[in-house]
Amino acid sequence: MLKKEYKYFLFDLDRTIWDFDTNACNNIYSLLDIYSLQHLDKEAFYKTYDSVNHKLWALYEQGELPKAVLRSERFYQTLLLFGIDNRELSQKMGEEYLERMPYQKALMPYALEVLQELKKRGYTLALISNGFKEVQYKKLICCGIDSFFDAVLISEEQGVHKPSPIIFKRALKAINGTKSEALMVGDDFANDIEGAMIFGIDQFFYNYRSIPCDGGPTYDSSDLRDLLKVSPQR
Ligand SMILES: [Mg+2]
Repeated sequence: MLKKEYKYFLFDLDRTIWDFDTNACNNIYSLLDIYSLQHLDKEAFYKTYDSVNHKLWALYEQGELPKAVLRSERFYQTLLLFGIDNRELSQKMGEEYLERMPYQKALMPYALEVLQELKKRGYTLALISNGFKEVQYKKLICCGIDSFFDAVLISEEQGVHKPSPIIFKRALKAINGTKSEALMVGDDFANDIEGAMIFGIDQFFYNYRSIPCDGGPTYDSSDLRDLLKVSPQR
């Protein structure tokens, strides 16, 4: 697997280290308890929410739905499918969901072990995440993984997001890294992988969903532990 030796690892956060989908699911399960909706089928409720959210998110991305509306509407429409027509409850659940999200602690398989091992082996790690600073820093701290990173770049704070080469360049500068010795690790082909390609560094596509991809990344793997094969003991 090893094509060359790296010294610097740039990581994405959501769905690469932080298990967004498991955390969203656990969060929804807690909300059902908090709002006395235990009689509903939890799994069915989450599946319905996920599909409603997908549809509404697409509208939001097309500029057809304001973010504030999206936040409660996804709960309103889900509850409606379970026979509950309640705007006030949807609003409360929408707010509570966002508040609780950064405190969820599930990580992707082997993420913690891999980060620990890379640090132990003496590598320099940076994090580049598209998201809101209030949310993303909380996630890192709550999961106890903030200290692994020598630099953290959050798009909101940076005023620029992946795949822009500007944010990759800043990350590398923050850790005094060089392009030829850096590897970007991420699950999002357009933002993480193509972004890193354009910037000119090698890429590790964490392809846990086994998405067929053309224009080959440097590495394509569904197991984060493969990173330890491109980072020999130093
Ligand atoms: Mg991601």
